[in-house]
Amino acid sequence: MAYSLNQKIKNLTPYAPIVGHYDIRLDANESFLTLPDDVKKKAMEEALSSPLNRYPDPYATDLVRGFSKYYCVKPEYVTAGNGSDELISLIVGTFFEAGEELVMVVPDFSMYQFYAEVFGVKTTAFTKDESLHIDVERLCQYLIQSKARGVMFSNPCNPTSICLSKRQVHRMLREVPDCLFIVDEAYMDFADESVLSLVDDFDNLIVLRTCSKAIGLAAIRIGFAVAGEKITRAIRSVKSPYNVNTVSQKIGEAVFADPEFLMHAAKKIISSREHLYKGLLALHARYRGFDEVYESATNFVFIRTKYAKELYEGLLARSIAIRFMGGYLRITAGTQEENKAVLTALEELVKEY
Ligand code: PMP
Repeated sequence: MAYSLNQKIKNLTPYAPIVGHYDIRLDANESFLTLPDDVKKKAMEEALSSPLNRYPDPYATDLVRGFSKYYCVKPEYVTAGNGSDELISLIVGTFFEAGEELVMVVPDFSMYQFYAEVFGVKTTAFTKDESLHIDVERLCQYLIQSKARGVMFSNPCNPTSICLSKRQVHRMLREVPDCLFIVDEAYMDFADESVLSLVDDFDNLIVLRTCSKAIGLAAIRIGFAVAGEKITRAIRSVKSPYNVNTVSQKIGEAVFADPEFLMHAAKKIISSREHLYKGLLALHARYRGFDEVYESATNFVFIRTKYAKELYEGLLARSIAIRFMGGYLRITAGTQEENKAVLTALEELVKEY
């Protein structure tokens, strides 16, 4: 008899990023900024002078301290992960028992559903309004009636770029106290509605953050889970001991030691996003090639258009990669030149439709 894979992994396919070379990459919501040379030099010196024959600090103590100081949270509430992706998989995989329901708010970041399937966690979908906003009242009712054990959503949302206010999330935490809220704030450095400060008051809240977006360190894979003591103890107990490597810890520490750089970087990216958003609105007004350009609280702009596929392929043919999502396009804010190139190429394309 031949070995056969189990049912839940049998039909999975490996993650397929855009492959091949494109002159302009605006498809993955990365930062277009690189670290200043002095920060880079300091980080590399620290990394290379660390004892590389030894395992990393399992609690990434100095990195967590730097994060905590920058975001004004208690280090006791923070767990570092190998990207927030690792933390998502850990939480989805360990916080829910067979038969318990985790609610997905769709559309949202696809990895939540992916990990739920991998770990055999039962999910149900709560659909956003036609405008792609979350109706908070309706979601609370849904969570109460379905007796959901948890709900997971990104805020601001990838892909819609829309942000719930802190007040709205606060209200849900209060109204559904026995449901675990996993609030993924991967893009919250571009908005000002974080619920990080609420982890002290709510034992049903986990906030996820990442260094991959505004902080510009997607390559080194650092994310954080922030939660009260009970949940933090559980996350630390289920994580693998040496999940964040020493080199990444050192680079992360050096970056958090330079808060001015971080604040400046976020501002620059927001200004690039505004430029891209206004350029897309102008194209929309002129040619009506899109159905809607969503106002963004992130580092990308989301567009609804019936010509999504044609525009995506037209851009690829011009060596510009963006993200195609059915009837939508998601374009990451880039450098001035990159924004200009994508706007010029889109103008050529929308004129045809
Ligand atoms: N959450 C959201 C909403 C994201 O968009 C992403 C990355 N695209 C992640 C988490 C994963 O980020 P990381 O690089 O920290 O794994």
